Amino acid sequence: MITVGEARSYVLAHCPVLPAVEVPAAAAAGRVLAAEVVAAEDVPPFANTAVDGYAVRAADVAAVPVELDVVDEVAAGRASDLTVAAGQAIRVMTGAPMPAGADAAVMVEDTERLDGGRRVRITRVASPGQAVRGVADDVAAGQVVLTPGTVVNGPVAGLLASVNARTVRVVPPARVAVLSTGDELVDDGRPLAPGQIRESNRTMLVQCVADAGATPVDLGIVPDDEDRLAEVLAEAAEQCDAIVTSGGVSMGDYDVVKAVLSRLAEMRWMQIAIKPAKPFAFGVIGPRRVPVFGLPGNPVSSLVSFELFARPGLRRMMGFTAIDRPTAPAVADSAIRRRPDGKTHYARVVVRLDDDGRLHAVPVAAQGSHQLAATAQANGLAVVPDGDGVPAGGEVVVVVLSLA
Ligand code: AMP
Ligand code: MG
Repeated sequence: MITVGEARSYVLAHCPVLPAVEVPAAAAAGRVLAAEVVAAEDVPPFANTAVDGYAVRAADVAAVPVELDVVDEVAAGRASDLTVAAGQAIRVMTGAPMPAGADAAVMVEDTERLDGGRRVRITRVASPGQAVRGVADDVAAGQVVLTPGTVVNGPVAGLLASVNARTVRVVPPARVAVLSTGDELVDDGRPLAPGQIRESNRTMLVQCVADAGATPVDLGIVPDDEDRLAEVLAEAAEQCDAIVTSGGVSMGDYDVVKAVLSRLAEMRWMQIAIKPAKPFAFGVIGPRRVPVFGLPGNPVSSLVSFELFARPGLRRMMGFTAIDRPTAPAVADSAIRRRPDGKTHYARVVVRLDDDGRLHAVPVAAQGSHQLAATAQANGLAVVPDGDGVPAGGEVVVVVLSLA
């Protein structure tokens, strides 16, 4: 048996970052930038008012109250031709360009409208520059606004739009073939014949792949037939950037995945000192050396194996710096029981951030590697070192799958 760390390093060493592509900014959501973004324009492009109110000369409102003539009115998107002279003001709405002559804006709350709007009384003193957003206050043309490795989330997409970056260089999403193997599997809703079960792993993994930021390519159920599996894998090795299989990598007699991948790919068949997910296969297939993740068939093992090995590998390929889930110590609110067996256990837990500012974890009731129902309630994996487990109130490191 090898450690998680060893298996993970092996995987990552064979998951190079995909070649970058230039895409329209609108198509970059969720992607990792592969090049700097340099602003082509100043933001804001002109000095403008930060408030609804009056553009004034600060010198006129050094002492209050004071009354000024209102000589014009400017909405956002317009500009005034007039210059604010001594004793004058221009009514301005948030975002309107500062009129010439004015050097401060006074918010409407600090004013009283007089003579039907022809005059205004200002009741609070203004200082030069007050409530004015200067040109390039946010971004100056020529400035590097984003660096490689940045993930394009909502604010980043907004920034790209604000500096008029029409296209960006990004690492594309990996196209990931997902397939399950097994003659016992049924996924079309028909009544189960003796020995058959419902397919769940591929359905689960398709979503896990998407959650990792990749594009799943659902190749369905492949029967335990060597020729058929070889065909599907060869096709996937041409069309996709990675392949995730579930089932057929352990010690069973009908583990055709093992037979076929041994023939078609450079595989490493691993036994990892963890529970669940001890068997795991990884290798590269075809001239493009497409990574293949051979996950075990038991649904919970499949999930844990995906989280520990496939997800970081796929995220590495897509240029993410954060390839791993966050991991943090948690208080075990109830005991996490186990016996010494030479393995690290990844117990499925419900983890939450408590009012005490700490994470608290409780194991889900059923910890069998076939018991997906209980695992579906979990949002964390408690890393329980070899030994007798963690007592209630003890501390345990948790891989946080989600927290919201
Ligand atoms: P295997 O690794 O193929 O020997 O499968 C181990 C166990 O997982 C068996 O009980 C299989 O029936 C089950 N299994 C394998 N693949 C799937 C799948 N895609 N969905 C649900 N159960 C599966
Ligand atoms: Mg099988």
